Amino acid sequence: MTPNRKLLVLPGDGIGPEVVGQVLRAVDWLARRRLVSFDVTEGLAGGASWDKHGTPLTDETLADALAADAVLFGSVGGPAYDQLPFEQKPERGLLRLRKEMDLFANLRPAMVFGPMADSSSLKSELVSGLDILILRELTGGIYFAEPRGIEDLPDGTRKGYDTNLYTTPEIERIGRVAIDLARRRRGKVTSVEKANVMMSGVLWRETMQQLFEAEADGLETEHMYADNCAMQLVRYPGQFDVIVTDNLFGDMLSDCAAMLTGSLGMLPSASLGAADPVTGTRHALYEPVHGSAPDIAGQGIANPIAELLSFSMALRYSFDMGEDADLIDAAIDRVLASGLRTRDIMSEGKTAVSTEGMMDAILHELDTVS
Ligand code: NAD
Repeated sequence: MTPNRKLLVLPGDGIGPEVVGQVLRAVDWLARRRLVSFDVTEGLAGGASWDKHGTPLTDETLADALAADAVLFGSVGGPAYDQLPFEQKPERGLLRLRKEMDLFANLRPAMVFGPMADSSSLKSELVSGLDILILRELTGGIYFAEPRGIEDLPDGTRKGYDTNLYTTPEIERIGRVAIDLARRRRGKVTSVEKANVMMSGVLWRETMQQLFEAEADGLETEHMYADNCAMQLVRYPGQFDVIVTDNLFGDMLSDCAAMLTGSLGMLPSASLGAADPVTGTRHALYEPVHGSAPDIAGQGIANPIAELLSFSMALRYSFDMGEDADLIDAAIDRVLASGLRTRDIMSEGKTAVSTEGMMDAILHELDTVS
C-alpha cells in the first residue's frame, strides 16, 4: 500500500452532493483495485454549511482545506440562499477558500472525447481528441490592481478606469506552474499577452522569456498575442498544449476554449497555490466549472463527468498519479463511445442514463481498461 493521500471533500449544494457521491465510488475503486489509499474527510461548504453553522465556511473546514493535499469541491448556491446578505452567501465560502489557500493559478482543460466531437461548434476533425490546458493567473491583473474607479470630470462627463498591473514575481510564479504542467503533459508552453500595445504585456513577455531560458530546458516555448491566440483557438486548437496568460485574457480564452468541448456537464477545473519550497506540494482545489444546477437537483440526472474529471485532475496534479488519471479518462471515453449519455449531452440514437447509471458504466469500463 502507498501512503495515504489527504483528500478533503466538500460536496456543497444542489447537484454537488449527487455528483461528488458518485465520484467517491471511483475513489473506492482506486483503493480496491489499484491499492492506493486516500484519507478522505468530508465537510460542509456553501448553503449546506450555512444551514448547520450559520456561515458558508467554518474556520475548522478552512483549516482542514489548508491541511489537505487536495480539496474536491462540488458546487454551491441555490434559490434558498438568494436572500442572504452578501457576506453569508454560499459563493462567499468558495471565494474565502480560494483566497485563504492563495490559489493564484487556475487550470481549465479543454478536452474533447472522440465520441463527443459532434457536440462542438467546430468541425469534428478539428476537435476530436483535443486536450489543451488554459492556465489563467487568478489573483492579480486588471480585476484587482489599483487605481481603479469611476470619477466625475469637470465638464460633466465621467471616466471609468482599471489598471492592468503585474510584477515580475507574479509573472514568474504562474510561468513556473506552466512549465511544471507542460513537463507532465506534451511539453509545450504558449505564453499569451498583448506586448504590442500594453506595457504590462511587454514585462510579461520579457519575464516569461527569461524564465523559459532559465527553467524550461527541453520544452517547446513560444509567445503569442492574445487576439491571435483567440483566432488560433478556433482555427486549429490542436497546436496548443499549455497556454499561460493573465487574468483578463485567461477569463476570455478559457471560456472560448471551453465551448470547443460542447457541454458544461463535462468541464473540470483546478486552482493551485504556490509550491512549498521544501516539499514541492501545493494547496489545490478541484471543482467542475458548472454550478449547483437547482433546476435538476434531486432528480438523479446530473452529469457526473465534470466532477470525475476534476478528481482525475487531482490525481494528475496533486497526487502524481497520471497513469490512474489516464485510466479514468479512457473509461469515460469508452462509455461515451458506447452511446450512453446523461440528459445534458443526449443526442439522437444515444441511450439516456441517470447520474448513477453513468458512473456504473464508467466503473465497469475501469474494470475493463485496468
Ligand atoms: P449552473 O451551472 O448551475 O447551471 C446551468 C445549466 O446547466 C442548468 O440548466 C443546469 O441544469 C445545467 N447543468 C449544470 N451542470 C450540469 C450537470 N453536471 N449535468 C447536467 N446539467 C448541468 O449555473 P446557474 O444556473 O447559473 O447557477 C445555479 C447556482 O449555482 C447559482 O446559485 C450559482 O450562484 C451557483 N454557481 C456555483 C458555482 C460554483 O459552485 N463554483 C459556479 C456557478 C454557479
